[in-house]
Amino acid sequence: MGKLIGIDLGTTNSCVAFMENGEPTIIPNAEGGRTTPSVVAFTKNGERLVGQAAKRQMVANASRTISSVKREMGTDWRVNIDGKNYAPQEISAMVLQKLKADAESYLGEAVTDAVITVPAYFTDAQRQATKDAGRIAGLNVQRIINEPTSAALAYGIDKEAPQKIMVYDLGGGTFDVSILDISQDVIQVLATAGNNHLGGDDFDQCVTKYLVEEFKRTEKIDLIPDHMAMQRVREAAEKAKIELSSATAATINLPFLAQGADGPKHMELTLTRAKFDDLTRHLVEATTGPVRQAMQDAGLGANEISKVLMVGGSSRIPAVQAEVKRMTGKEPFRGINPDECVALGACIQGGVLSGSVKSLLLIDVTPLSLGVETVGNVFTRIIERNTALPVQRSQIFSTAANFQTSVEINVLQGEREVASYNKSLGKFRLEGIRRAMRGVPQIEVTFSIDANGIVNVSAKDLATNRQQQITISGSSNMSQAEIDQAMRDAEMYAEEDKRKKEAQAQKDAAESLLSQAKRTQKKMKSPDKEKLTEAIRALEDALKREDDWAVKNASDDLKILLEAAGQYVDNGAAENDDGSFDV
Ligand code: AMP
Repeated sequence: MGKLIGIDLGTTNSCVAFMENGEPTIIPNAEGGRTTPSVVAFTKNGERLVGQAAKRQMVANASRTISSVKREMGTDWRVNIDGKNYAPQEISAMVLQKLKADAESYLGEAVTDAVITVPAYFTDAQRQATKDAGRIAGLNVQRIINEPTSAALAYGIDKEAPQKIMVYDLGGGTFDVSILDISQDVIQVLATAGNNHLGGDDFDQCVTKYLVEEFKRTEKIDLIPDHMAMQRVREAAEKAKIELSSATAATINLPFLAQGADGPKHMELTLTRAKFDDLTRHLVEATTGPVRQAMQDAGLGANEISKVLMVGGSSRIPAVQAEVKRMTGKEPFRGINPDECVALGACIQGGVLSGSVKSLLLIDVTPLSLGVETVGNVFTRIIERNTALPVQRSQIFSTAANFQTSVEINVLQGEREVASYNKSLGKFRLEGIRRAMRGVPQIEVTFSIDANGIVNVSAKDLATNRQQQITISGSSNMSQAEIDQAMRDAEMYAEEDKRKKEAQAQKDAAESLLSQAKRTQKKMKSPDKEKLTEAIRALEDALKREDDWAVKNASDDLKILLEAAGQYVDNGAAENDDGSFDV
């Protein structure tokens, strides 16, 4: 296994960590940030931006900027950019590619493997799509693990006395609550519940709505049709929200926000924490249902839970912490930066898989029940939700009609009793069943789920031993051929990026060579002076034409002349032995 990283692939922000001398450590991105916005943009001139650069230009390029794509994972959502349709896993892969590239330049070596986290509530299709995104980005995804489990690892709870804990994770776009059972060397997720459409973005939305309404009330101007103004208000709303986690009031100041009949209009107002709490109370309250559900599923009362770990940027909101304390009677536990602990845990899990971290076994659960459709549109469960993974379960079924020689197995995931209300993960047919009266043939249906939560289903006629099976991989909405194509595209982009970097380094080196040459030129006499002047002109011309090949040749010529004059100084930005350039 090559270098392995742990990745928290978040809805709003992503974070990467690696094991440094046995310690999980955050890897900063190329811009120096410890988290990277999960935002991808396509500029008008065909350039692709990822992270902070993409987020920054969102205002001016809203229709070609994609954020929160995690919410679309596993669905048939597509975005069309310049005539090409991109699936959610392809957009996610672009974020992963940047994380991988930044990690490689920070570590100075190739990154090949990753552990990627997903919300505990993610379905099979969403997990599979996440795995595919990793593959498209050129990563060997060793394991997909639940974010709360990962957080518990980061907190080192596995090394403490046996206990049951709650992980309350409120991020930018998703909410998860999990109850974990920690006993020696084993972390078992007893229950998970959540809402993958609830997070910090919704808090921003409430504040934005309030600010827009206030502006309309005082200035009589509706900002909604003005995309640029709305983006500025949204950014100010998030900033105010973050400030209100440590201060009791925040000032919003947006000059020249709109043009009124009597001149420019500015937004200037103060938002108190009390007002913010008022505006967002329903969101905080919306987290209580899943908390109750998880405790009920785990069969535990609040007094049996020893700790509540707070995870995700939005868990810093004081009203959220107060609500958690009210519900559980525990002071929330906040030892590690909530934005970083999931990535740290993922790299610890990577350490377990690669053998560098010893004696830790991880048991995870299936978030939703799995089963098949039986006569009368009935959902028959084979694996109940919250069953520990990996798991394999079998059940015997029979035919519904006399002399029936084939059956269709419709694999379903969900909690509804009516089959058609659940999500169909795939269908397959078992043919060649021995002719018999209804109810006589014995068909054994086996479900297995591996440690990543990937589902495999088989059906076997016990009389003939005929068997059919499927791996639920089509549920990611991309065929193998599409994934292969996306991988080739991603590699091409990586090559293109490398080429651009090298060309820029060569250009920088040429420019520094030119200034050396111009300084030397003044001191030289004929005929060497004319030769040098000609070489300078050739290099300037090559730079102007942006002809990388000519720049290299003209730089070589100029270097020879300067060396002959004893004036060449290697400035460190020069060519390497292999013809490449350091950046
Ligand atoms: P995450 O997905 O865990 O990175 O969380 C991102 C969300 O946390 C975004 O909605 C941020 O606005 C929010 N966030 C980050 N810091 C704070 C803070 N100090 N107070 C409130 N929300 C925050």
